[in-house]
Amino acid sequence: MSVARAIEKGSAVDRDIYDEDHEAFRDVVKEFIKRYVTNEKREQWDTAGEIDRATMLAAGESGLIGLSVPEEFGGAGMLQDYRFRAVVNEEVIAAGAGSLAGAFGIQDDLAVPYLAHFGTPEQQQKWLPGMATGEILGALAMTEPGAGSDLRGAKTTAKKVDGGYLVNGAKTFISSGKTADIIVTFVKSGEGNRADAFSLVVIENGMDGFEHGKKLNKMGFHGHDTAELSFVDVFVPDGNLIGGEAGHGFVQLMRNLPLERLSIGVAAAAAADAAFGWTLEYAKSREAFGQPVSDFQNTRFRLADIATTVDVLWAYNDRAMRLYSDNKLTPEEAAKVKFWSTEREWEVLDQAVQLHGGYGYITEYPIARAFLDARVHRIYGGTNEIMREIVARAVIGRK
Ligand SMILES: Cc1cc2nc3c(=O)[nH]c(=O)nc-3n(C[C@H](O)[C@H](O)[C@H](O)COP(=O)(O)OP(=O)(O)OC[C@H]3O[C@@H](n4cnc5c(N)ncnc54)[C@H](O)[C@@H]3O)c2cc1C
Repeated sequence: MSVARAIEKGSAVDRDIYDEDHEAFRDVVKEFIKRYVTNEKREQWDTAGEIDRATMLAAGESGLIGLSVPEEFGGAGMLQDYRFRAVVNEEVIAAGAGSLAGAFGIQDDLAVPYLAHFGTPEQQQKWLPGMATGEILGALAMTEPGAGSDLRGAKTTAKKVDGGYLVNGAKTFISSGKTADIIVTFVKSGEGNRADAFSLVVIENGMDGFEHGKKLNKMGFHGHDTAELSFVDVFVPDGNLIGGEAGHGFVQLMRNLPLERLSIGVAAAAAADAAFGWTLEYAKSREAFGQPVSDFQNTRFRLADIATTVDVLWAYNDRAMRLYSDNKLTPEEAAKVKFWSTEREWEVLDQAVQLHGGYGYITEYPIARAFLDARVHRIYGGTNEIMREIVARAVIGRK
């Protein structure tokens, strides 16, 4: 966010993380929003429970997705620079379209990185160009009905057969699970539960035995699909084993999870920042007892609290983005950013709803939708309890 925009919004956050290229890109994102993120569209996504493909293709065309795809495959080559993704998050969330921001994030932060970091040249050539344009949408499936936090408890098996693997099992809570064309899937390819017993395979739509289960009805993010997936004797060719060698899935996840957690921290900061803007505007225009509610001391103090929290959220997340660019964002730093940011976001949004009075509870208002969306930030990407455990292990040691 530029200083001018910050002051205009009243938060006066003087962030120095962006340069002219990011601000020029911000204009592109705003233009996209003007064209494609209308109230009508948002309602359409919420009713359908998913983002339509035409919007994702338009996002590919404008360069809003595919940011993390390497340039040689038609992307922007920004896998190690989160700032462009942060600009997308800021603007799309401020436009009240959290579901769209979520769909973009699954593509760029969760699915693409596994192929960009670990894919064989053939895998990259096969999928990444389409992922840059939006013709191929990806998802990441780790969680199972019986195993979420405890990934080593995963029971989806991949049994070696001639020319590939037979995959059996089920996944749940998979974001973009219905709309994705390819699913990067965490499977148990070996015996026991040591790290080398797990692999990642790409499961493609249309493979025999792969069924999308029901789309799950959620508290928030109504316009972004979350689905169950089931696999019965799905034949997955050797060529779809990420990296080409079995037994690396756990390590690959550990390598990419800090990025997923950074992305949630940034989304949380963006939502808190947006909430500040909406609430300031509302409080100035709403009158009670013959004066704008922004004149009440309580409202003024709450807005001062929120503005300060937003400043600190950005300072912390900007630092994390820099660490990430320098390849120094450790699992524990990412865990801190994720749990701390999402908890501040929750407090800010709760206060912001309160300052809107009854209208804050009505989902026609972006603040109500953002509040509902925010709840899952403390749950997915690793629960905040697991994040604290990761930090505790780093600062105290293992039990
Ligand atoms: C909307 C949504 C989208 C999602 N998207 C995806 C996706 O795209 N891909 C994917 O793979 N998953 C996804 N998930 C799954 C999500 O990551 C898991 O729900 C989450 O990791 C928690 O796992 P669980 O639900 O099995 O809870 P559990 O692991 O059963 O946890 C239940 C409770 O116990 C606590 N707990 C568990 N272990 C410990 C411990 N060691 N110490 C302290 N407390 C503990 C947890 O913190 C939690 O409070 C999504 C979930 C939702 C709701």
